[in-house]
Amino acid sequence: MLVIKVGGSAGINYDLVCDDIALLVKEGQPIVLVHGGSHETNVLSEKLGKPPRILTSPQGFTSRYTDAETLDIFAMVYAGKMNTRIVERLQKRGVNAVGLSGLDGRLLEGPRKANVRAVVDGRQVLVRDDFTGKVERVNAALLRLLLDHGYTPVVSPPACSTAGEAINVDGDRAAAMIAAALGAKQLIILSNVPGLLRNFPDERTLIPRIAYDELEQALSFAEGRMKKKVLGASEAIAGGVSQVIFGDARIPRPVFHAMNGAGTVIER
Ligand code: ADP
Repeated sequence: MLVIKVGGSAGINYDLVCDDIALLVKEGQPIVLVHGGSHETNVLSEKLGKPPRILTSPQGFTSRYTDAETLDIFAMVYAGKMNTRIVERLQKRGVNAVGLSGLDGRLLEGPRKANVRAVVDGRQVLVRDDFTGKVERVNAALLRLLLDHGYTPVVSPPACSTAGEAINVDGDRAAAMIAAALGAKQLIILSNVPGLLRNFPDERTLIPRIAYDELEQALSFAEGRMKKKVLGASEAIAGGVSQVIFGDARIPRPVFHAMNGAGTVIER
C-alpha cells in the first residue's frame, strides 16, 4: 500500500506524476493519491476579487483564512478543477481513478476549529468565522472498498467536520492520517522542491535523511507551508508508517525515485 501526496505549488508536473502512478498501478501496486491546490486557489481567489489571506499562528504555522466564501473557492479548485483534471489524467492513462473529497462518505473527518488564534501586526487576535480543522478520523473502509475492486482513489480536501460541515484541512497532514489508517509502509510527499533544504532555496543543501527524533530540529529549517509537511511526516511515523519521503514532482518518474530514497527520507 502506497499513499502519495502531490502538492499544489506552481511548477509541479502532474503529467509526470500520473505517468508514474499508471506504471505502478499496472504493476499491481495499490495507490491512494491525495492532492493539493494552493497555487490554483490563490489564482482563482485573485480573479474573483477576493485575494488570499494567510493566518500565522503564535507557533509560526501558516494557514489560509477560510471564511464561507473562501471555502467555496477552495472547493471549486480542490474538489472541482484539480480533482477532475487529475482523475482525467489517470483515466487517459488507463487507471480507473475515483475522485473523492473528504466529505464523501466522511472520508476525512475531524473537529472544526472555528476560533483560530493568529498574530496580526505583532498582536494576537481571535479569528471567529474560520472553516478550518484537523483530520482525526479516516474512513479507511471506504478506501479499501475501492482499492479491493481495482479503483484508484484520488482524494482532496475539504474534509467533513464532526457536525458535517465542509472544512479546510491541510493536505499533507490528511495524507499522513490516510497512510496511518491504511497501514501504508511509505508515504510519498511530492512538491516543487527536491526535499527539505537546510538552506532554502539552495537545492544543494538537500537533507537526505532525518531520524524521527531529529524532526523537531528539522522544523527549524522549514519555512511557511513546509512546516506542515514536517508535522505531517512526524504524525505519519507516530501512526506506524515506516518511511515518509519528500520528493520532487518536477522530474520524470517522481514516485519511483522517491520510493527508492531520492529526496528527504524520514524514518524511525
Ligand atoms: P505543496 O503545495 O506542493 O504541497 P507547499 O507550498 O505547501 O507545497 O510547500 C513547499 C514549499 O515550501 C516549497 O515550494 C518552498 O517554497 C517552501 N519551503 C520553505 N522552507 C523550505 C525548506 N527548508 N525546504 C524546502 N522547501 C521549503
